[in-house]
Amino acid sequence: MKTSQCLNPTIFVIFGGTGDLNMRKLAPALYNLQADGFMPKDYAIIGTARSKLTDAQFRDTIQAGVNQFSRSGKVKKEKWDKFAEHVSYNAVDVSAPDTFAVLKTNIEKIKAEFGPKTQVIYYLAVAPNLFPLIAQCLEKYDLAGDEESCRIVIEKPFGRDLETAKALNKLLTGIFTEKQIYRIDHYLGKETVQNIMAFRFANSFLEPLWNRTYIDHVQISVTEQLGVGDRGGYYDGAGAMRDMIQNHILQLLCLIGMETPINFEADEIRNKKVDVLKAMRPFGPEDIRFSTVRGQYSKGWVEGKEVPGYRSEKDVAADSNTETFAAIKFFVDNWRWQGIPFYVRTGKRLYQTSSLISIQFKDVPHQVFPAGVTEHWQQNRLIISIQPEMSIRLQVQAKRPGLDMVLNPVDMVFDYKGTYSAQAPEAYETLLLDVMLADQTQFMRADQVESAWELLMPVVNAWETKKSLSFPNYHADSWGPEDAEALIARDGFHWFTLPLKNED
Ligand code: NAP
Repeated sequence: MKTSQCLNPTIFVIFGGTGDLNMRKLAPALYNLQADGFMPKDYAIIGTARSKLTDAQFRDTIQAGVNQFSRSGKVKKEKWDKFAEHVSYNAVDVSAPDTFAVLKTNIEKIKAEFGPKTQVIYYLAVAPNLFPLIAQCLEKYDLAGDEESCRIVIEKPFGRDLETAKALNKLLTGIFTEKQIYRIDHYLGKETVQNIMAFRFANSFLEPLWNRTYIDHVQISVTEQLGVGDRGGYYDGAGAMRDMIQNHILQLLCLIGMETPINFEADEIRNKKVDVLKAMRPFGPEDIRFSTVRGQYSKGWVEGKEVPGYRSEKDVAADSNTETFAAIKFFVDNWRWQGIPFYVRTGKRLYQTSSLISIQFKDVPHQVFPAGVTEHWQQNRLIISIQPEMSIRLQVQAKRPGLDMVLNPVDMVFDYKGTYSAQAPEAYETLLLDVMLADQTQFMRADQVESAWELLMPVVNAWETKKSLSFPNYHADSWGPEDAEALIARDGFHWFTLPLKNED
């Protein structure tokens, strides 16, 4: 149960305080946590970056971010003034480590004021090449504390392959204990994603069906209409596999595939998730050929506007081999899931922005209805929609009203908006509160990150060493390359999409 009552005095040090992530996500999340009464009585937010700013300039900068990006709209003056009192700025240049001395003095001053129970949270919202430097400086200036007094939050990407992830883990765990390290994957903080566990483990009717006997296949689709925009420099060194599959999508797969935990403790849940990753079938050369598809978008038209192809985007190499689309068929080789395919796909500049999980159940063993009655027959499906719609739908067959017996698929729907009037918190609100409460359940442990990389490395290496000759191979505003349709069609299935609101 989350409550501000159990929070100790907290100092947030945000490295990258002037950056995009703080403007878009962190500052709005902290402001909303304060507005909703979830911050402790005593707290301080110290923004840091190289820019020379006064406290007032920094407050103005993040106010603009909150005004633009907060789910609750523009700040309310009274609430903002109260929040701003807790915010200050301290210029720190990671490549000039002596600037940490001033930071240390400031932290110690606030600690003396807040008392001995004060916890310090370092949030690394900076480019990944700065993660090791910051951790080393925190150690050098005796700022790394212990499990009670200090935590460090690391943004994604966590490594760019198995080797670099291991090296970063080694460095961090040489300075901090695992209990102090919070590797953030913001997908895990989303309401609908958290609800997967509630839905699976708080409802007894599902468990007997949740296995290879009753489930036909699983699909996870995370599709985006946007292209890379201004993030070409980052994305061209990453691609869909590193940006989405290694973290968000494999974590969703773990939530669907995991065994029932014996309790809701962070390590128990993370153990069960890592078991899924360890049971996933490794990729050999044949699997890479037949069970994976990569794509890159060409120019096209989106909502009446011409958009550039990936290779013409800002900061992207003209002959880039980076995939902006990936589709993969996974298997989880254990008793529950043996032989059941998990299809995942993700991409940019696709027809629709949505994150969907579809669990298709096996067909009835014997058809009792005559052909004319079952024209619109659809195997049962459970659809978890993470965004833009937040819903869980169970697709079942029902009789259409009328004198004739005609069956139609209908949806039994749990829709957040229709069920609850309160606005759902943003993922970052949930996760920042978890860090303050020292709850690691929704954060990645070292072995989770490494197992995910280990599984994907053969594909990453194969795609990097063998340049795609077919890129670009899908048009903006399409559903990706034709090969992705073939990947799933070969097994007799098709990718599931929710109809757009105006498309029913
Ligand atoms: P960004 O906009 O480029 O911000 C980088 C920040 O780092 C700036 O505040 C910059 O400020 C500071 N900085 C750069 N060099 C520094 C140095 N030597 N010493 C101290 N500060 C330095 O990046 P971002 O988009 O916020 O991303 C930050 C991290 O979050 C990255 O790891 C990214 O992958 C991750 N992430 C971002 C998003 C997002 O939506 N933006 C989403 C998921 C993950 P100065 O130039 O003033 O020093």
